Amino acid sequence: MGMIECPKHGNQGLSLVSPKIAEYILNKIPFDFGTEQLLLEIDTGLKSIHPIDETFAETLRKRYGLKEKLEVSDNEEAFEVLSELKPVCEVCLNDSSFV
Ligand SMILES: [Zn+2]
Repeated sequence: MGMIECPKHGNQGLSLVSPKIAEYILNKIPFDFGTEQLLLEIDTGLKSIHPIDETFAETLRKRYGLKEKLEVSDNEEAFEVLSELKPVCEVCLNDSSFV
């Protein structure tokens, strides 16, 4: 995981989240939507977990034919999803209404 320069917290680790979550955190808006955990698996065994909003989750379910479990383990698809996620400061994420 990389680092991010947060205006409030300085240099912090970053989390990759769905664009909507990133926007809400950036504008300090309390979440008015549900969140889910997305699991991405890149190459062999490199797994990462990403908070995403329920609308984004639904989009991924339709696009990749996912079942209840939000897990993308096809390399190409995982990279595709990863490119749509946005970086946020980990501390800001923890401070947000995301639990
Ligand atoms: Zn921060």
